[in-house]
Amino acid sequence: MNREDFSILNQQIYKRPLVYLDNAATTQKPQVVIDALNNYYTQINSNIHRGVHYLSQKATDEFEIARETVRQFINAKHHYEVIFTRGATDSINLVASSFGRTFLHEGDEILISEMEHHANIVPWQFLCEERGCILKVIPFDDNGELILDKLNELLTPKTKIVAVSHVSNTLGTINPVKKVIEMAHQHHIPVLIDGAQAVSHCKVDVQDLDCDFYCFSGHKMYAPMGIGVMYGKEEWLNQMKPYQGGGEMIKQVTFAKTTYNDLPFKFEAGTPSVGDVMGLRVAIDYINHIGIENIANYEHELLSYATERLSSIQGLKIYGTSAQKAAIISFNIGNIHPSDIGTIIDKLGIAVRTGHHCTQPIMDHFGIPGTVRASFALYNTKEEIDSLYEAVVRAKMMLE
Ligand code: PLP
Repeated sequence: MNREDFSILNQQIYKRPLVYLDNAATTQKPQVVIDALNNYYTQINSNIHRGVHYLSQKATDEFEIARETVRQFINAKHHYEVIFTRGATDSINLVASSFGRTFLHEGDEILISEMEHHANIVPWQFLCEERGCILKVIPFDDNGELILDKLNELLTPKTKIVAVSHVSNTLGTINPVKKVIEMAHQHHIPVLIDGAQAVSHCKVDVQDLDCDFYCFSGHKMYAPMGIGVMYGKEEWLNQMKPYQGGGEMIKQVTFAKTTYNDLPFKFEAGTPSVGDVMGLRVAIDYINHIGIENIANYEHELLSYATERLSSIQGLKIYGTSAQKAAIISFNIGNIHPSDIGTIIDKLGIAVRTGHHCTQPIMDHFGIPGTVRASFALYNTKEEIDSLYEAVVRAKMMLE
């Protein structure tokens, strides 16, 4: 699908055609996104929001159009609920720090899940250390599905926030986040969704989900690195203390007292990555043009095909067999170390990721050091999955 837009894919690695299956780590960028960056730096580059001159105003206008593009993409109610950050990690740190400093006290509980990326674990642990809060964990079963009955038990009058991923970057599980949000809201507890692996694979509607925060990165959805989004409901953002201090986030500064700017600027201290925001806007237009449903259906076809082919390899075990899955397959073969498989198939031109994928608690759950992870995007093909299959079979023969 639209493969011709990604010229990076037309290269040989070790004299073999590149088969890029590391899309959960980062996707490649279509030419229109690369052109948008080029256009910004050759035609528009200027600092935003503070200038009266033409270029500054143009850059500001384009920046704010991008905010509106993101608003529509996730169906936020207001454009000022869209805060630009450096990525999902930055977004989650923003919420943990700012929400935490505003609302959390000793003995309060934070609820996450066992399948979180470290980016949705460690910022909450900082908070626990600083404030004396308690981190609690919703377990998953051996298929990689959250055990929702446990969630009910874990929600207590002390729970102050729930933070779970929409899609697991290791297991591929699409979590029933709407249900999680409903359950938490019955106790008036806000919910943060880590959408880093979801936004480019399924339709996200933050009003329909009714989540309180939704965090994602641009670079996993065909946009440049260094740009991300933190969506937050107005009612929370207005109450929360700023994340970082600096230019743009203030209304007035005196040595005696500083007052803060309105949303969204209160959370956007300093010069943002304006060129990358332009790239994000074009990436969203690109996804919209193809249609997120079409992308989801196509990737699902790839997932089914890859699951069937890989499962036919004797001794291969797939981690994450949830009924609702995004196009991510984690696997191991017997006791072969995943990095040995990754190293051999790399020499055959195949780019997969090996290791713990920043989800060490998932590895602990299964008692393994890591997995081989193949993750698919809209430009991958069944022929590439055949190449993966053949390479894995060859690696297995060499390593067993
Ligand atoms: N959350 C999930 C589920 C992820 O997969 C990742 C990255 O792999 C992140 C958060 C962190 O994203 P970033 O490194 O772009 O900030």
